[in-house]
Amino acid sequence: MMQQIYPSVEHPYTFELNKDFNFSAAHYIPAPEAGKCMRTHGHTYFVNLTIGGDALDDTGFLINFSHLKALIHDQFDHYLLNDLPMFEGKSPSTEVVAQTIYDIVADHLKDLPHAPKCLQVFLRETPSSYVVYRPKRTKEHM
Ligand SMILES: [Zn+2]
Repeated sequence: MMQQIYPSVEHPYTFELNKDFNFSAAHYIPAPEAGKCMRTHGHTYFVNLTIGGDALDDTGFLINFSHLKALIHDQFDHYLLNDLPMFEGKSPSTEVVAQTIYDIVADHLKDLPHAPKCLQVFLRETPSSYVVYRPKRTKEHM
């Protein structure tokens, strides 16, 4: 769903950046309650990342758009998500995948001197289903 307007997140930052990309991956939900989703099947996942911050780097970027995509796309695209180390022992539901994307992005951003923050991960799994993951508003996230 490129060019769609995503749910907006309230924040105190002067800059907000949004990056869209997609990846294709297979998964299965290892639980009988998941019904036919127990069988291995594939999705084209659409991701929107929202990053906020008050300061820019020396290039004038809050975060380089292509770095953001590479962080996730290179690790997830054309894999069976259940096989990836970050989903070991977990069910790669849309919710868990969104949270995992957040964790990877936040872990990358925390090392940048100008301290941008990941404010929201929007993850669309099908044309009619998506999840929004937002971190709790604690001091460390602000
Ligand atoms: Zn699925």
